[in-house]
Amino acid sequence: MGSEAAKVEKETYRDTLGREAGLAVTARIFLVLGIVATLGSIGLTIARAEFFWLAIGAGCGVLGVVLFIVLHALSEIIMLLKRLTGMPYSGTISGTGAGTIYVCSQCGSMNWSDSAACRKCGAGFEPGDTTGH
Ligand SMILES: [Zn+2]
Repeated sequence: MGSEAAKVEKETYRDTLGREAGLAVTARIFLVLGIVATLGSIGLTIARAEFFWLAIGAGCGVLGVVLFIVLHALSEIIMLLKRLTGMPYSGTISGTGAGTIYVCSQCGSMNWSDSAACRKCGAGFEPGDTTGH
């Protein structure tokens, strides 16, 4: 017959477009738009002496802040999931400015303080042997 059996081949890929960074930028755009709309409405209220515009501006401002918080939270969830699975991510996770993390001395990936072996490279840890720098 001459037909060879198909093989499963390993291919590497690289996704350089982090969705989490785009979400964070979009969140900031909504925040700026909300602030601009609020400021614009204050100007319209003064110019036209109609408080109707102030209500519209306040609504836009609140919407901008809410969208900023929600989209930024989504962005951070993606970053946290990527960090947990060891994938590269762009951006910073809030509340991580200072603190203690546990990393493997062999490969540098994050682990739990009581891990028996590295989640990434598989190196075995000696119990109770967390050395600081
Ligand atoms: Zn390791």
